[in-house]
Amino acid sequence: NKEEEMSSMVEASTGKPPVTHDSIVNLDHGDPTMYQAFWRGTGDRATIVIPGSQTMSYFSDVAGFCWFLEPQFETEVRRLHRLVGNAVEEGYHVLVGTGSTQLFQAVIYALSPAADGAPMNVVSPAPYYSSYPSVTNYLTSGLYRWAGDANTFNGDNCIELVCSPNNPDGGIRKAVIKSGRAVHDLAYYWPQYTAITEAANHDIMLFTVSKCTGHAGTRLGWALVKDKEVALRMIKFIELNTIGVSKDSQLRAAKILRAVCNGYDLSPAVEANRLFHFARRQMVERWNKLLAVVAATGIFSLPDELPGYCTFFKDTIASTAPFAWLRYEKEDIDDLEGFLREKKIMARGGTRFGADGRVVRVSMLDTDEAFNVFIERLASLI
Ligand code: PMP
Repeated sequence: NKEEEMSSMVEASTGKPPVTHDSIVNLDHGDPTMYQAFWRGTGDRATIVIPGSQTMSYFSDVAGFCWFLEPQFETEVRRLHRLVGNAVEEGYHVLVGTGSTQLFQAVIYALSPAADGAPMNVVSPAPYYSSYPSVTNYLTSGLYRWAGDANTFNGDNCIELVCSPNNPDGGIRKAVIKSGRAVHDLAYYWPQYTAITEAANHDIMLFTVSKCTGHAGTRLGWALVKDKEVALRMIKFIELNTIGVSKDSQLRAAKILRAVCNGYDLSPAVEANRLFHFARRQMVERWNKLLAVVAATGIFSLPDELPGYCTFFKDTIASTAPFAWLRYEKEDIDDLEGFLREKKIMARGGTRFGADGRVVRVSMLDTDEAFNVFIERLASLI
């Protein structure tokens, strides 16, 4: 049948080998394949068909503020924020990028160089998302440079990346440098990961469909930007970098976000249509399994996270971070990544995040098969 045929194509399209009981389980990347189970159930409500004659022009909205932004995508982004209550959208420019990875580069371009013409320092408190240093430095730009841990940064001029909840450790963060320009990476500020405690209203906020709905392959992110001049510089960057952003992806993302919003607005009683409820349940189940096995091993620890009142779920909920920041508590191993690798578990070592080697980041967003094999292997260390 058509549905099965489509879902097997989807599965094939991950290009990842199946996880078996003796293969390496790769939880190094935060590949959000966990969400496939939800989207398999949505059928045509999230499907789009694009005729050969459409989306051919470079332009989406020539008269608009951002000429390559599809109006339908902007409409659904604003609607989603109003539904979830995680960010203020009124009074903000919406920009679109090829993943929030491109928008991150557009932001550091827009805010650089420093006032004296020297390269702008880009910092974030350790442990920080491992892509921040590599993406900042890969072109050895004269406009900006990675300057490391914000907690030990000495100086006035900087861009501080504030990732909250934080990749890798799930912490809720505020800017630590008062004189810096803060860029808020809110990729994980969604109710499946953490309590929504306020509608964020920072100057520059980055979001991505990758971690919200799981459509990482669509490569779409968006920014909410208050200041017009900053937004125009970001648009300029994307114009120079890729002459806009795939319209096909924007139309698909618009349809996906519309399906999410409709799931709550049109059929709130139908459990199978509520993405955040599905994802939350899944995350709670996974975290309960992980916490139990970590307690049983007696050799690992996880960060303490206090529960908070979530205005979206209207309930007090524990945080269920997208990554487990797993620390080895004994002295005999310095390279936890290497140790777990021998046990056929691939995770990303702490040194990549500005931390030490006794801690690793493990993705909590992979398939059920991969996650369950990971839990079995941890349990075998008891
Ligand atoms: N920010 C954070 C904190 C992330 O973890 C990721 C993805 N790992 C991104 C940004 C990039 O997401 P995208 O797929 O939209 O480029």
